[in-house]
Amino acid sequence: ATMPPLLSAIANAGRHGVLVKSAVVMERLGQVDAVALDKTGTLTEGTPRVTEVRSLARSRLTDEELLGLAAAAEHPSEHPLARAIVEAARERGLSLPLAEHFDSTSGVGVTATVDGQVVAVGTPARLLTGATDPSSARAAVLAAELEEEGRTAVLVTVAGRPVGVLGIADRLRRDGARTVRALASLTGTAPVLLTGDNPRAAARLAEEVGIEDVRAGLLPQHKVSAVRELEAAGRKVLVVGDGVNDAPALAAAHTGVAMGRAGSDLALETADAVVVRDELTTVPAVISLSRRARALVV
Ligand code: ADP
Ligand code: MG
Repeated sequence: ATMPPLLSAIANAGRHGVLVKSAVVMERLGQVDAVALDKTGTLTEGTPRVTEVRSLARSRLTDEELLGLAAAAEHPSEHPLARAIVEAARERGLSLPLAEHFDSTSGVGVTATVDGQVVAVGTPARLLTGATDPSSARAAVLAAELEEEGRTAVLVTVAGRPVGVLGIADRLRRDGARTVRALASLTGTAPVLLTGDNPRAAARLAEEVGIEDVRAGLLPQHKVSAVRELEAAGRKVLVVGDGVNDAPALAAAHTGVAMGRAGSDLALETADAVVVRDELTTVPAVISLSRRARALVV
């Protein structure tokens, strides 16, 4: 028997490096007319590196102690920022104190008990809300300086008090700008950026890839609202993401595609399709494949 067009398209997508989970998904990919892209791990390579370690003077911690504490708390996390912090500690040969009671909040950060004290590592905007003490004020200034440079700033607190800030940088994917242009021309709409990261770093990256509609500082449920808003305006939205924080939006979207290499298990399981070959241009490629296959389906 000759292969039905949608099944051949699935095989073809596989050769392009995209795992499409069903014929229904293969068909839906060609229907999308709006795209929402995640930043970290999707438009960026997803292998961020720690570029700055700044302990607060009043914390009495050395930069190495600060990094060691953060790495100990982040050790169980699969978030790309967590891996960057653990890797930076490893490179400096730091031995990590043991962490207990690990907990993580998607889009915010982690907490753990290290040497009997609760250490939190995460997004400054959420950990500093409402705080006006000198340490918090100083930490906010350091974080803003790093974000101005396009870094993701990560705050470290011990027993609720800020002790330092880490700067983390990730490279834009080589095919990021090209993919944004291809998606805009295929769907007839400019893609939007949905990120949990800070507005400054988000704006900087958006400018580099040519995205104008930027929504930053989003929690997972805000990503869902952004998708629903587009769908309420009559759009069929394709969401491309990689993180645990993207999973609800991947599920809510008309079609969800996860980035496979750095992607979290939850994102890969939730998405309708997975980019296995680590290139973003495979996304517009599978949309085209779907449209060609649909043209052959009666
Ligand atoms: P994005 O939507 O761009 O992929 P995330 O939602 O995964 O970003 O993360 C949003 C923000 O939450 C990060 O920029 C960081 O400040 C914070 N964050 C999330 N998880 C962690 C973690 N494990 N360690 C430190 N910060 C974290
Ligand atoms: Mg991400």
